[in-house]
This record gives sequence, structure tokens and C-alpha cells, in this order.
Amino acid sequence: MALSSNLGYPRIGRHREWKKVIEQYWAGNLEEAELHQKLKSIRLEHLRKQKEAGIELIPVHDFSYYDHVLDTSVMLGIVPARFEYEGGRVSTQLYYEIARGSRTQPASEMTKWYNTNYHYIVPELNDAKPQLTFNAPLEAYREAKQELGINGKPVIVGLYSYIKLAKGYASGEERAWIDRLLPLYCEVLKQLEDAGVEWVQLDEPSLVTNVTDHELNDIRYIYQTLAEAAPKLKLILQTYFDSIERYQDLIQLPIAAIGLDGVHGWESNIAQLQAHGLPEYLSLAIGLVDGRNIWRTDLQEASIKLDQLLQLVSSDRLIIQPSASLLHVPVTVEEETKLPETIKQALAFADEKLVEVVKLAGRASGHTQDWEQSVSEAEQAYKALQALEQRQQKQVLQQQIEELLAKGLTRSTSFKDRYQLQVNKHKLPLLPTTTIGSFPQTPQVRAARSRWRKQEWTTEQYDAFIAEEINRWIDHQEKLGLDVLVHGEFERTDMVEFFGEKLGGFCFTSNGWVQSYGSRCVKPPIIYADVTYSGAMTVKETVYAQSRTSKPVKGMLTGPITIMNWSFVRQDISREEVAYQLALALRQEVNALEHAGIAMIQVDEPAVREGLPLKEAAQRQYLDASIAAFKLTTSGVSAETQIHTHMCYCDFHDMIASIRDMDADVISIETSRSHGELIRSFEQQTYDLGIGLGVYDIHSPRVPAAAEMISLIERALEVLDPRLFWINPDCGLKTRGEVETLAALAQMIEATNVVRSKL
Ligand code: GLN
Ligand code: ZN
Repeated sequence: MALSSNLGYPRIGRHREWKKVIEQYWAGNLEEAELHQKLKSIRLEHLRKQKEAGIELIPVHDFSYYDHVLDTSVMLGIVPARFEYEGGRVSTQLYYEIARGSRTQPASEMTKWYNTNYHYIVPELNDAKPQLTFNAPLEAYREAKQELGINGKPVIVGLYSYIKLAKGYASGEERAWIDRLLPLYCEVLKQLEDAGVEWVQLDEPSLVTNVTDHELNDIRYIYQTLAEAAPKLKLILQTYFDSIERYQDLIQLPIAAIGLDGVHGWESNIAQLQAHGLPEYLSLAIGLVDGRNIWRTDLQEASIKLDQLLQLVSSDRLIIQPSASLLHVPVTVEEETKLPETIKQALAFADEKLVEVVKLAGRASGHTQDWEQSVSEAEQAYKALQALEQRQQKQVLQQQIEELLAKGLTRSTSFKDRYQLQVNKHKLPLLPTTTIGSFPQTPQVRAARSRWRKQEWTTEQYDAFIAEEINRWIDHQEKLGLDVLVHGEFERTDMVEFFGEKLGGFCFTSNGWVQSYGSRCVKPPIIYADVTYSGAMTVKETVYAQSRTSKPVKGMLTGPITIMNWSFVRQDISREEVAYQLALALRQEVNALEHAGIAMIQVDEPAVREGLPLKEAAQRQYLDASIAAFKLTTSGVSAETQIHTHMCYCDFHDMIASIRDMDADVISIETSRSHGELIRSFEQQTYDLGIGLGVYDIHSPRVPAAAEMISLIERALEVLDPRLFWINPDCGLKTRGEVETLAALAQMIEATNVVRSKL
């Protein structure tokens, strides 16, 4: 009999109760004991739901108070030296300080989890003194057993991937770190074995990226040692997000099961399985239900895959599961009462996916009852969805895109000449100062929007409120002495929803939240049909802001790749097609802003890096399409109009050449949280367009001192041309409070003045 399994369940709760509890605790409105107790009841509720859905291998220790990589670090005693820590179990307070910064110390860096929009806290190995502080997987296992009688499957970030995700060591030092951490992993597993654990899932997503011979030796060493330490445990070597490299070698490891993605990278995974088979002693954990997307599984397609698998592996060696942790999808479609029925019918969130997993596991074991009906329901739901598209419209869009692409998307004036025109036009000083776009979305701003949405306020009332906020912040910016102003994005919920609501082809869930970082959740829109432009989206507020000041106001748009990467896109439409349709629509908005007298326009592409395929072979095509989409968006303006872009959350050092090819006049890019490491990349690669490296971290409420920023700026100016250098924070300020924002920006201006005076 095939087993049904899950790799991880969303933490945030059906109504984001997880987020609310944690934020209450941060705000000082909840005692620590209450925090533990409330999170426990959320955790148990999630386990209960999975049990009721019929999942046999239920994950434990996938739950977190913030992030699972940080959990691994604190389990192993890896705490950055700048925090006060004397060993032993890491307190809740220290845990959150590492994640969010303390009064005096910056937080650890945060970056994207592989090619997703989830962010993890980067472990800082440096001079950490590893020790097993607390066996959290064991604790989670015991809890599930005692409270619910569940024989859970502890989930742990595997050691190979953990070290790959970490920083603070030089290349060549991996083995030394393995030697330091492996005994701790052994101890964790031994204790799990003693407690009667059967299955353990070791997450090794780094196995889908390039694995060198040297690394392969390390992997062998790790898994041999682990197997010796806990010989009775059934270890699942779990991979996801793409096909694995080194299949033949990995199946030789002393493990009980190998976990493969059966959606992303299926073609290559199945080819390897077919070519090399699966040894008798191994089970195959196969992800047939997409853990990254919200659409119902095409059960017909999935059962074809199953049949292929059953030819190679007997059903009692199959474990059916989602392709990745369900962390990346919302909780349940049940909450969606406002979506059109046709769309709703085609959706499956976490809870619905578990039902699909159980169905597929049944099918693998030969249960045919209701199977045909389930297949045809899924098929009909999909057909109905596709019927929402209009053929003619699609053709018109296609033609316009092709014409523009064929015409070439290079701006007619070279960067050097354009930039000179732009600087002269606005009389920009050296090291111009600006911000990334948003200002604090205070409770008042959110309350105003909610009144308007509930129709307690008329549109006039709401617009007047927004205008007043813009006014207030234009004043603030002038008083601070910023050179390039923004309107503040008060009218926007978030970067994608706001545009999606104004474009054709989008729809919105009421409750489709997914965790982005820490307690921050996003609600990605759904692109269910062709994307179309139906009129100006940002012109009114931008023009209003510009009318209040003689300084230039930057218009603010979200770029096509980011809108696409932060939306759920139909899996039967090519992503390139979606990106170009978005670009075509945004091009019209860029042109409309220019036409309305806006001379600087920023097209944010923070998500461009996260969509980069994990496999090198597929990266070029993605990058070329991203560059083309950006240029399609921005190349319709005159030489005097300054195009800005912004990128964040990622390590960009491997992308600098592509960023350059996007040909934006100015890019602002996050750096301060990675403590200036990006600057080093510019020593090796020239960047000769306008650039602002973020000079302070906006993810933390801490107000940085001017001195800190001065040293970052001076460090950057050792490698970058001061005539092209801009000063800005790392990212938008919407999550910050007003007081700290004003204080931090004042420090930034002071830092700029100090550096300018020395130039
Ligand atoms: N313009 C956006 C803002 O300031 C950019 C946000 C982002 O990069 N994530 O909020
Ligand atoms: Zn940003």
C-alpha cells in the first residue's frame, strides 16, 4: 500500500492567527507563556487537520516561531557573536533578536529560500560554537504523540543544504563545518530513534542545484555517519523545486527513501528513474501535487505519472505527497466565498491538496472507487476556466508584443547622454538622495482603506484622505532635504494586488495568504486569463504629489516579472507570454506618466532574482525574457525621462551583467542587510549606470546612526563612480512607523552631507 505524506503545512493559520499572536507578543501585549500556549494550539490544530484528511506521514517540526532555518541554527547553537549568548537553549527573546535585530544589534541577513518568495534567516557560521541546545524535532514529535496520538515524521533541514544556505565561512571550509555540526545531527537523530520515531525527513533542496564531486563526497560522509548513528530510523532524503543532480549516486546512500519533485523537474526525474531504476531497499517519496501553485491537480496527468512509476516501483514502496512544503500556498479554498464559481472550482490550496494526495495514494494502491469521477471533475473545472479567455483579444495582444519585440527595445539615446540630460534637467547634486517608494502604512491608512472598501466612506472621502497623506509626506520629504521625492504609495495595499485590481485577467482571493518572511504574509493575486490594460493606474496620485513640490517626484510601478512571480499564474499558459502581456500593459502606464509630466519613473523588480531557475542551463532564457520584459515596459519614453528600478531581498552578485542589460538609468538595490557584501561584487564587475546601494536596513525598527551609513557609502565609493551614485534606504518604508522613519531618513541625509563635504 502506498503511503500518503505531507512535507510541511502552512504555519500562518486559517485566519492568520499565527501572525497575529506573534505580533501581539512583539508589541508587548502578550506574555511569553501565552505566546507559547497560543502557538501550541495552532500547531496542534494543524496536525489534527492533516490527520483528519487521512495523511499517514504527518510532518512535525515544520512549524516555526519565525523561520525553519533559524530554528535549525538555534538548535545547533549558531548565534552570531554580536548577540549576548552564553550557550544553552536560545531564549524566545534572543531568537527574535537574531531575526529582527535588537536595540543595539542588526538582525541577521534574510534572503530568498531557493526560487520562492519565502525568506529565511541566513545562518552566520563565523566563529559560532556549535552545541546541541535543544532537540526541537524530538519535542515536536513527543507533543504530537502525547496530545494527538500522531506518530509524526520530524522534518529537519539537512546538513548539506544548511551549510549551503549559511554564510560566514570560506570556500574549502565546508568539511570543517560538517565535522563540527554532524555530531549534533547524529545526537538529534539518535534521540529520535530512542523515542520510537519511524520516519525522518531531511530536507536537502540544494541537491537540485549543481553538486560537485567534492560535495558528493561530503554528502556521502554525512549520510553514512547519520545512518550509523541511528540505524533504525528511516531517513527520507527529501529534495524539491527541481530535478536532482546525481541521482545514481544519491540512491546508493544508506537511506530509506528518496524524495523527488514530481511536478517541477518531473521530466528529468522520471528519466533518471527509468534509466537507473530504484534499488529494492529504497522507497520513493514522490510529489505529484504541486506545492507551489494553487490550481487543482490534473488527476488525469497525475495518474499517467503514477502508472509510469508503478512500472518501476511497487506501490508499497511509494509515498505520495505534495511536490514541496505547503508553506508556499494558502490554507483553504473554503474561505473563498467571493470568487466566481468557475475560478473557485479550479483551485486547490493546502487543505484541498492534502485531499488530492490521499486520493492519489489510494489510486496508487489500486483503489478505484470514485476515481473516475474525481478525474472528470478536475478536468471539467479546468475546461471551464480556459473558456473564460477570449481568443481574439489574445491574438491582438500577441501581435502588439511581437511588433514591439521585433522593433527592438533599446532606447534611442545612450545612457551617458541620457543621464547628463536628466541630471541637468533636475539640477541633481552629487549623491542624490531618494527613497524606494512607500512610506508607513499606518493603522490609520489601513483603517481608511477598510472604511472605503466597506462603503462607510465614499470614494471622495477616501481620495481626500490619501491626498492629505501625500501632502504631509511631501512636506516631510522637503523638510528632510531629499532630492527626489515619492508620493508614498498610501493608496496601495501591496505592490501586486494594487496593479492586479486595475488590470484585466486578474482575480483576488479574500484569504489566500502565504508567509513571505517572519510574520509578514502576502496575498498573491491569480492571473486566470490574458492581461489587459484598462486605463491609468498611478497617474492621479503621482501628478498630485508633483503638483505640491518643485522637486522631481518619481512615479512608481511594479515591474512585469515581479507581478508575475508574485502572482499565481495558470500552469497551462507560458510564463513568457504572461510576462510580455504584463509588460505591454505597464508600458502604456509608463507612457501615460510621462505624458502627464512625470520625469522619473521607477519600475520595481524586486522579484526578478527569485524566479531565476535553479538549474544553470535554464537561467539564460529566463534572464533574457526578464530583460526583454523590462525594456518592453520602459523603452517608450524620451531620453530626458529617467527610468529607475529597484531590487531587493536577494543576492544579486550573479546577475549584475543582466541587471546592466536592463538599461535602467538608476537602480536602487538592497545591500545593508548583507552587510555590504554586494559591494565586493562590483569590484569584479563594472557597473556604469546610476546606482544606489541601500544604506540602511528597513526590516528592523532600529534607527541606524549616520556613522554606520557613512562607512557603507564610503566603502561603496571606493568601487563605484560618485557621479553615478545615489543614496537611499534598502527598500520601501511601508512596514515602519512614522517616527522611526523620519529619524532614520534624517540620519541618512546627515550621512550624505558628511560624505558630500569630503568629495
Ligand atoms: N516601491 C516599493 C515600496 O517602496 C518597493 C517595495 C519592494 O521592493 N519590495 O514599497
Ligand atoms: Zn525592496
